[in-house]
Amino acid sequence: MTPDYIVIHTAAFNGKDCDKDMIDSWHRAKGWNGIGYHYVILNDKHSHKSDGMVEKGRPDHVQGAHALGLNSRSLGICCVGHGDENDFTEAQYDSLIALLDQLMETHSIPVSRVIGHRELNLLVDRGVLSDRYRTAKSCPGNQVDMQALRKRLTKPATVSPPEPQSTELADAMAVLAQHQDRFGNARDEWAAFYYHPEIIALRQRRIT
Ligand SMILES: [Zn+2]
Repeated sequence: MTPDYIVIHTAAFNGKDCDKDMIDSWHRAKGWNGIGYHYVILNDKHSHKSDGMVEKGRPDHVQGAHALGLNSRSLGICCVGHGDENDFTEAQYDSLIALLDQLMETHSIPVSRVIGHRELNLLVDRGVLSDRYRTAKSCPGNQVDMQALRKRLTKPATVSPPEPQSTELADAMAVLAQHQDRFGNARDEWAAFYYHPEIIALRQRRIT
C-alpha cells in the first residue's frame, strides 16, 4: 500500500488504560485481522504508560481498516480518549505532530491530505470519493480542530521563521534584521535551514 492520505481518529472511549492492545481486542471482536490503525497515541489516563506515547499498530505497508473508502490509500492514526468530550492532550498533540511530520516526509504527503475521519465528507463533496463513503461520524471528535492541527504542521521555507529561543540565536537574528541590506537573503536561508526536514526531525523527535 502506498498512502497518499493520513486520517486522524479518536478511540471514542474515555476510560482508563486504553492502548494499542485494548483497541486490538476491540477490532478482533469485530472479526477483523487485528487493530485497524497504523498508530495509536496514548493519553494521560493510562496507569503505567506515558501521555503521548506512540504505539505501532499495523505495519505502514499493510492496508488498514479505519476509514471506509480510503483504506487502500491512507495511514490511520488513533488518538486515545474521546474527542467529542475532550480535546487531545498537549503531549498527544506533540507526538502527533512529530509523527505526522515524519510520515508526511517519508510518503511525500502534503498537509492538505492530513484529514480527520469526518473530513472524508469533504472528499465526497469534491467527488474524490463516491457518495456511499459519506460518514455520520464526528471522529476525531467535536473538540478536535483539524484546521488548527494542520496549521501546526511543517511550514514551507517561504514562511518567515519564528524567533529562536536561545539568546545567541536571537541576537544573531536581530543583527540580520537590522542589517538586512548587508546580509542579503540570510533570513531566507535561516528559514530554509530551520524548516529542513532533517532539522525538523532532530527538533521534534519524541517518538518512543
Ligand atoms: Zn475514526
